Amino acid sequence: ERNETGWNFDNSYSRLPHPFFSRMTPAPVRSPKLAILNRPLAISLGLDTQALNSDEGAAVFGGNRIPEGAAPLAQAYAGHQFGHFTMLGDGRASLLGEQITPEGDRFDIQLKGSGRTPYSRGGDGRAALGPMLREYIISEAMHALGIPTTRSLAVVSTGETIIRETELPGAILTRVASSHLRVGTFQFAAKWCELEDLKALADYTLHRHYPEGEAADNRYLFLLREVIKRQAWLIAKWQLVGFIHGVMNTDNMSISGETIDYGPCAFMDAYDPATVFSSIDVQGRYAYGNQPYIGAWNLARFAETLLPLLHDDEEQALKLADAEIKAFPKLFYGHWLSGMRAKLGIFNEEEKDEALVESLLDLMQKHQADFTNTFRALTFDKAKGTALFESEEFAEWQKQWQARLDRQPHPRSESHERMRNNNPAVIPRNHRVEEALDAAVSCGDYSVMERLLAALAQPFAHSPEQEEYTTLPSPSGRPYRTFCGT
Ligand code: AMP
Ligand code: MG
Ligand code: MG
Repeated sequence: ERNETGWNFDNSYSRLPHPFFSRMTPAPVRSPKLAILNRPLAISLGLDTQALNSDEGAAVFGGNRIPEGAAPLAQAYAGHQFGHFTMLGDGRASLLGEQITPEGDRFDIQLKGSGRTPYSRGGDGRAALGPMLREYIISEAMHALGIPTTRSLAVVSTGETIIRETELPGAILTRVASSHLRVGTFQFAAKWCELEDLKALADYTLHRHYPEGEAADNRYLFLLREVIKRQAWLIAKWQLVGFIHGVMNTDNMSISGETIDYGPCAFMDAYDPATVFSSIDVQGRYAYGNQPYIGAWNLARFAETLLPLLHDDEEQALKLADAEIKAFPKLFYGHWLSGMRAKLGIFNEEEKDEALVESLLDLMQKHQADFTNTFRALTFDKAKGTALFESEEFAEWQKQWQARLDRQPHPRSESHERMRNNNPAVIPRNHRVEEALDAAVSCGDYSVMERLLAALAQPFAHSPEQEEYTTLPSPSGRPYRTFCGT
């Protein structure tokens, strides 16, 4: 039954066996205030934005008031963090329940930063305003780019101070996800639960995300295959926009194929496969160019958890799993190459396309060309004024590219259209995100962020108002700063 605000919870996850969660209520916060509400998302969830944009909404998103029908819990999971296996679980998040939309779709509604849980270990269970607004901005940008992702419904400031390196204003993000089932959830089940619990989890996952496989001869093999397919596609999409996740630990890889857990993620400016943003990733394990390999590694960990379900005979099970994992590179590369063809306005396939793409990327790397703006310039025939574009090697490459376009039956106008739709004008560049966060967090001025969000909502519009968001950070590398009152 939908209540007045539109909440309509069903809590299927809480019907899983016990080990998978702990019931708990979010720890109330002092003074929750709505910092931002995602109205279009709220409406698509069947929620009344006017009712939410109130003290009542702030109380719900702050964890002070549990909406009717919600049954809060923290989820248990394990994971490989930077290659090391450990028990984790929601240490600072609380799943309110699953909202059933007017269309009948099911989405997890999760509060992130809602206080300590049985899985918090040493942590305080809290989150800071800056990082929660950052997740809001980047996840919504990813959605607008057409990349599967968790979404952000709201951020509230808590009126409390949290201690990190310095004192920071606290906040809670309301995250919306197809589910929060992770590779790490399966690792938890395989390592610490009974076989029947693992089976219950796998059956639950099939029913929720891959129902077309429930009747398959080997439904767990089906599950493995489909998760691999979705991740191959997802990671290809990341590579095609220069997104670097930053912490591809197995607990941050979702079974539904959505991008999840926006921590030290960022978009690459100059093209370089070795790009890393996370300060804790000293070895570059999660560098841009490594993401497909890490994806395959994580999926191998997922496959291992399913072995006892794949076949009664261990050796047969291994064989089955191995064949699926081996398919990943080809799946990934296929998606990536067709995405690159689209970025270059190519419709059909030629064997040498691979070399054409690779040689462009090599030149971009050599001349430290901006990834996004290079493709934009190619799209609009403005390949001028950068070291890359002024180089002779590029002129040679461009001739080959033009000849390639001439060999397909499609007119240039169609190539242009294809490039427009595949090469974003606006991505959430770090210096602009920082500028927006600084205005919001230091000055309480959300207008900079609202304008940025509006530009990010239509990345393929290529409108004149978006021009200002295409500029690169200053070469000094110093982050752009605004000051309150100016
Ligand atoms: P992440 O690196 O974001 O994937 O988080 C890894 C683990 O640390 C997860 O189990 C989180 O729930 C937990 N965690 C992160 N921050 C906190 C915090 N402030 N308090 C408690 N647990 C946390
Ligand atoms: Mg995580
Ligand atoms: Mg995180």
